[in-house]
Amino acid sequence: MTSEAFPATSGKVLIAGEWVEAGPKTPVINPARMTEIVGEVALSDTEHVEAGIREAATALPLWSRTQPEERAERLLAASADLRKSVPELTRLLVRENGKPLTEAERDILRSIEMIDIIAADLAEWSRPALIETSQPVWIRKRPRGVTAVISPWNSPVLLSFRRLVPAVAGGNTVVLKPATQCPLTVMECVRILGPHFPDGVLNLLTGSGETVGDTLVADPRISTVGFTGGTETGRRIIERSAASIKKLHLELGGNDPAIVLADAVLDGAAIERMTRAILRATGQVCVAIKRIYVQESRHDELLEKLASAFGETIVGDGLASETTMGPLGNKVQFDFVNGLMERSRNQGLDIRTYGEKLSPEEWDQGYFLLPSILTGANHPDEVVACEQFGPLVPIVRFNDIDRAVGWANDTNFGLRASVWTSDRRQAEALADRIQAGAVFHNNHGIFRDLHIEFSGVKQSGLGRESLHLGLDHYTDSYGFAD
Ligand code: NAD
Repeated sequence: MTSEAFPATSGKVLIAGEWVEAGPKTPVINPARMTEIVGEVALSDTEHVEAGIREAATALPLWSRTQPEERAERLLAASADLRKSVPELTRLLVRENGKPLTEAERDILRSIEMIDIIAADLAEWSRPALIETSQPVWIRKRPRGVTAVISPWNSPVLLSFRRLVPAVAGGNTVVLKPATQCPLTVMECVRILGPHFPDGVLNLLTGSGETVGDTLVADPRISTVGFTGGTETGRRIIERSAASIKKLHLELGGNDPAIVLADAVLDGAAIERMTRAILRATGQVCVAIKRIYVQESRHDELLEKLASAFGETIVGDGLASETTMGPLGNKVQFDFVNGLMERSRNQGLDIRTYGEKLSPEEWDQGYFLLPSILTGANHPDEVVACEQFGPLVPIVRFNDIDRAVGWANDTNFGLRASVWTSDRRQAEALADRIQAGAVFHNNHGIFRDLHIEFSGVKQSGLGRESLHLGLDHYTDSYGFAD
């Protein structure tokens, strides 16, 4: 059943400036209303992947020689066009992804803002720099070549743009592959962006990771990969790209810990920040708080206050203005989180759910879950050790701070972490010991400024996300001496 027209790009792929049919199609389902088909996604075959790579390679020589000023001008014109469509793009993102309107709009606006920021800095960043030593050397920059951008379903526009925009701005041509579960808003954004660039600069292919993604990362004509997704997929990309030694930028999974010390200030504002860091996007955020370690003396108080904040959540269709938390993004994720809760319950953990169902009569029509807190968990029970990617958090007690730090580090992940204490020096000292790409004090998660570099350590990533807004990753520096 469809309740609105399919978006214009539904079921198509973009190759050399043309939106064309490619392979069989599969529906994109509204996770808040499983009977509603929002659009279709083409399962491209290798022939279309070949065409996408070939056209990106054909467009490269001209695009890579354009001046940064021209690229900046085109980017700014594209962002102005995107801005005109924010309400439609936001609504489409809610319908295919489930997140509430305010969160979806923020994703779209931040993506557009990224274009403006990169365009504004591009000419200055591109200027050769002179290093005066015994032999003066000019450090110059050049694009790397055809770039594959592969993105996940949880924040599809933002995470596509974070790689796509610096790649195109740096003079590369791109083949973009969004996630099959949730590609439509990305496709509509690219429909608006595409005409601002010569044909072939921006190509978009949809389809399975095993066919489209795998072919892209293995192809020797692709010089660079910008990937966001799970750690297992990242590992596979490293293997498949090894033969042609590509530059890889991988932003992978996480299991972020929050350590709450006995002297933490747990006032309303702190609890609100913590709750947001757990439940934003229904917990389907790489840098969500996914486990809490709390010093024994504050356990009951934290539990009571978090329970009260979780209790204010209104779960429903993201399109409803009252909704503060939407459904899980798709059936696979819904089944995984339900299975994890079931196994945790069987193991004897206490699982309490909170919040309100916006429309109880429509509850079974979407992948809805009320937010939960799990108590009685120990490190490393499954729910503590895994990336749950859902609206639940386990709380584990500790007495000894060293033990909590050990638990925080007892993982292959290392995206973000937070320390909640009124002692800033203690927070800094612990930040030195916690293996994460960033450690927050009395907060968790997101750097609002796009200039601040983001990266995961250990198996959460490879490369620095916002280093010079990502431009460094998609260009090579070379020295010129005379
Ligand atoms: P995923 O790894 O399953 O898929 C991501 C993308 O990779 C999709 O487009 C998929 O089709 C493609 N893909 C799958 N197999 C492939 C292969 N063999 N070769 C090439 N491409 C392939 O991840 P997901 O389920 O879409 O997203 C959730 C995961 O992403 C979570 O682990 C989350 O933590 C992570 N994530 C990380 C960040 C970050 O910045 N570190 C941000 C968001 C999400």
